Amino acid sequence: MASGAYQTDMRDHKFVLFEQVEVQNLSGPKYEEFGQDLYEMILEEASKVATETISPINEIGDRQGCTWTDGAVTTADGYKEAYKTFCEAGWTMMGTPPEFGGQGLPLPVALATVEMFTGAGCAFMMYPGLTAAAGNLVRAMGDDWMKEHVLPKLLSGEWAGTMCLTEPQAGSAVGDVSTRAVRDGDHWRLQGTKIFVSGGEHDLTENIIHIMLARTEGAPAGIKGLSLFIVPKFILNKDGSLGPKNDLYCSGIEHKMGINGSATCTLSIGDNDGAQAWLIGNEAEGMMRMFHMMNEARIGVGVQGYALAAAAYDQALKYARDRIQGTDFKEFKDASARRVAIIEHPDVKRMLLHCRSQVDGMRALGITLAWFAENLETLPEDDPQRGKFEDLLQVLTPVHKSWCTDQGHDVTKWALQVYGGYGYIGEYPAEQYMRDSKIFSIYEGTNGIQALDLVGRKMAMKGGQSFMQLMSWINELIGDVGAIDDLKAEHAALEKGRDRLGGAAMHMMQLGMSGDQDLPVLHACDMLNLVGDVVISALIGQQAVIAHPKLDALAAAAGVDRSDLVARNAWLEGDGEARFYQRKLDNLAYFAHQFLPRTAQWQRAITSSDRSVLEAVL
Ligand SMILES: Cc1cc2nc3c(=O)[nH]c(=O)nc-3n(C[C@H](O)[C@H](O)[C@H](O)COP(=O)(O)OP(=O)(O)OC[C@H]3O[C@@H](n4cnc5c(N)ncnc54)[C@H](O)[C@@H]3O)c2cc1C
Repeated sequence: MASGAYQTDMRDHKFVLFEQVEVQNLSGPKYEEFGQDLYEMILEEASKVATETISPINEIGDRQGCTWTDGAVTTADGYKEAYKTFCEAGWTMMGTPPEFGGQGLPLPVALATVEMFTGAGCAFMMYPGLTAAAGNLVRAMGDDWMKEHVLPKLLSGEWAGTMCLTEPQAGSAVGDVSTRAVRDGDHWRLQGTKIFVSGGEHDLTENIIHIMLARTEGAPAGIKGLSLFIVPKFILNKDGSLGPKNDLYCSGIEHKMGINGSATCTLSIGDNDGAQAWLIGNEAEGMMRMFHMMNEARIGVGVQGYALAAAAYDQALKYARDRIQGTDFKEFKDASARRVAIIEHPDVKRMLLHCRSQVDGMRALGITLAWFAENLETLPEDDPQRGKFEDLLQVLTPVHKSWCTDQGHDVTKWALQVYGGYGYIGEYPAEQYMRDSKIFSIYEGTNGIQALDLVGRKMAMKGGQSFMQLMSWINELIGDVGAIDDLKAEHAALEKGRDRLGGAAMHMMQLGMSGDQDLPVLHACDMLNLVGDVVISALIGQQAVIAHPKLDALAAAAGVDRSDLVARNAWLEGDGEARFYQRKLDNLAYFAHQFLPRTAQWQRAITSSDRSVLEAVL
């Protein structure tokens, strides 16, 4: 039985929301009803739901998984009750605008709640997460009848939603989708097979709305020939009530490495007369429309990456404080020396600091992207900031998805290592976090595909201007670090990382102009890692810039000389707020001096002009 109910340090969430992006200062009619007090209350409630409703079923979902019998899927014990509680409390509608019955919570706050829910049970959160994304797609692009009869049920979670792209021959190559759509009066009939559909069948809701890509008759090959459809499990009557079962059958579920509580389904579509389906928008606009859902889902998957990393780190920290093993290394020859908690061993400290700084940086990126998106929803069309926010959101979406899922999984691995053998066995949740988090780098476009998006599309967007926008934003953040005398060494390290990024990006652009596509494609992941390392370090720098004067003020009030480490540590032991801000400075020091040097490796690989991988024989 894995011990370790989900718990999160609320101070971390509040820091990013109220001191870094300052969400409480958003102004305009949308925010009149809100304020920091209300946001904090919502966060506390969300943390309670995460701990009391979702966390208790996380291990059960993992051990039991889902069960398939004759096309029906039963979720693990407790899932149904938790889903009902979650939806009835309105958590699915937190970010939904009030005109659609939601709370209209600013996206950064809504995303912070999603992190907590996901950290407590990512398999469970797949159901409401994809449902919300399907709802948002219908809200943005659906016909009036869909908005009247389908949308409210999706937003409230009364019906669930899915996203059906993948087919046996069409994974990364979405353009190879072969599910066929034939017009039949005012609707369409679909035939084909979709695989790996998360939540494709289950017992949580009375209906499931599949958002599905298919190819209409005569449409061209490739992504330009795809159209997007709503395919309900139960067909709707004219008044929106449930009609007969559609010609759609779950022919099996996958047995997986992780997220076992989430049903991963094969759907046989239209084996009889064809499944009834309704077009969203026009024919051949499928990919463009699906991207609305995919971009939201990609941000969501990045959050999954750091949510599990954060949960794994929090648990590992607790364990390391309690687990007694060995002595201080300076006393290893003394058999009677005091036994210490493993957190005192430098190597364990290093692992934990690595995890914490990564988690803090990833969360900063996620919340910052949500803040850009929030501004884009409310800023006037002619506001000069819009262009910047749009560019940063575009360029950083694949970086957020990939970096937070690769590094997030890496954090779960280090968190497991902190436990030693106890991490590998089922007694603690460490091994589940590691297994659960592996899928994040694979679905929603593998990280390799995200890197191609960055290098092939995003860096070239607007003739490279969007990328330049990113570079100048990074410069602003790093410049602020340089303005603080105590942080000069860290500033120099950040500048070095930024220069490596600039040099590598320039090299890639020159390769592109020379017509060499091979090397940019080969090194796309190196480039994405390099961008991620530099962006995250700049955001960690921003956190240190915020923390530094606050720590100074607290030290001055307490009369502590921070250069005297013994006095400083005694003070930090008794002052939680000062300890919190000190952590932000420690994160920056770790990143600048221990982690950022790896940017040299990415730059060298990108600029080496070495073709050995391309020419190698496998
Ligand atoms: C648990 C789970 C849940 C899922 N949920 C959903 C869902 O809800 N809806 C849905 O539609 N799909 C879902 N998927 C499918 C998932 O999105 C795909 O598995 C993923 O897109 C990769 O496709 P593939 O498995 O066919 O791998 P492939 O496309 O065969 O890729 C194999 C490898 O080749 C690489 N590769 C492929 N093409 C290229 C290229 N052009 N350039 C460089 N590298 C390339 C990939 O990066 C990868 O490393 C889910 C999958 C799993 C396992």
